[in-house]
Amino acid sequence: MYLHGTSTINDQGHLQIGGVDTVQLAERFGTPLYIVDEQLVRQRAQQFVRAFSETDLKFQVAYASKAFSVVAMCVLAEQENLSLDVVSDGELYTALQAGFPVERIHFHGNNKTVSELDMALQANIGCFVVDNFLELDLLHERAQLQGKVANILLRISPGVEVHTHEYISTGQEDSKFGFDLGNGTAATAVATALQYDNLQLLGVHSHIGSQIFEVEGFKLAVEKVATFAVNMREQHQITFPVINMGGGFGIRYTAEDSPLAIEKYVTAIAGAVKEKFSEADYPMPEVWIEPGRSMVGDAGTTLYTVGSTKTIPGIRKYVAVDGGMTDNPRPALYQAKYEAILANRANDAVEEVVSIAGKCCESGDMLIWDLSLPEVKQGDLLAVFSTGAYNYAMASNYNRIRRPAVVFVKDGEADLVVARESLEQIVVNDLVPARFQKTTLAK
Ligand SMILES: *Cc1c(COP(=O)(O)O)cnc(C)c1O
Repeated sequence: MYLHGTSTINDQGHLQIGGVDTVQLAERFGTPLYIVDEQLVRQRAQQFVRAFSETDLKFQVAYASKAFSVVAMCVLAEQENLSLDVVSDGELYTALQAGFPVERIHFHGNNKTVSELDMALQANIGCFVVDNFLELDLLHERAQLQGKVANILLRISPGVEVHTHEYISTGQEDSKFGFDLGNGTAATAVATALQYDNLQLLGVHSHIGSQIFEVEGFKLAVEKVATFAVNMREQHQITFPVINMGGGFGIRYTAEDSPLAIEKYVTAIAGAVKEKFSEADYPMPEVWIEPGRSMVGDAGTTLYTVGSTKTIPGIRKYVAVDGGMTDNPRPALYQAKYEAILANRANDAVEEVVSIAGKCCESGDMLIWDLSLPEVKQGDLLAVFSTGAYNYAMASNYNRIRRPAVVFVKDGEADLVVARESLEQIVVNDLVPARFQKTTLAK
């Protein structure tokens, strides 16, 4: 069994995370429960920052908050000297509520609305990563109205293919994101941006995909960005003070995944930047990166209580838990794979192969196929690993299931950072048209 971060099995055979017994966490906070190993998150942040500090490049490590955006996480990111990517007014609001330094907030997205642009301009955020021509025009116009100059990066689609699931691959030419490098669109975007007095072009941004286990794609992307920067210097006599190489660093979900150490990704990117830009005698740009999954992914564990089971002789045994695609839609979305153990009987010998089903009314609501476990009983606790990224963040209320609570654990302490949704909250935005009332009264 592979245990992440501070996870261990204690004397009682219980899974323990951050020095806290998960059986006690289940009693205290209920299940399903997202547990975040705070020390592991801090360690990841420090690994990125330290690796960059050793490169003598100027840098920013921006946590892609979409992976797990809650106020406490933004505060933690601030404490660890990270910058922060947001992709909606909701994520921006979360960052602002956390008191995150606005100059280190970067706004992403391929369809930012006028009100989102206004809100971000009003807040004086550090940088907009502009995705398309409409946004370029709109941002210029809105900045002019507010009498401001907005820092921008242009998101380019570098035409780099990486080996990952096609839904999470973004760098290839056929992508909804960014200005294409290959067909001259990116060059046109630079020319346009340079004409706009209320936009300050800092450089370009490239994000090639997610859950990437090799450095080749990043090196190739750096090369493309550098070539583009040199071309723009020739055409416009400008140099880019910043390049942003995105995120996408892979993590371990199951034994099939073999992620590189964080330092490997950083040194590969930094090395390629130094090489390509000094070759061209180009002023060394500041390098930004944007890890999301790799910052929080393997620090998260979801704890469920086992309920019903169904055995189909000769076929399989289904074991249902008290959550499912509502708290973790990734298996249904991208056939994502997870590992899990029985948190209350972690030392018991493996006796059967079962499949873990969620409780939603969808046959596709399966969390894990063919998982080896001790003989599972109602009331057992199932701990699913590596659920820190894109789980709470993607959680829904399908079947009007309440979103679980989130706790941070560290050094024997457990603190709630998101309360479990209440039944009242489930209907809080529901309204009944007044005319419905009338018909009832008339009867
Ligand atoms: C999603 C995203 C990230 C983070 O990706 P991870 O795979 O979670 O590291 C970074 N940058 C951009 C532009 C993204 O869209």
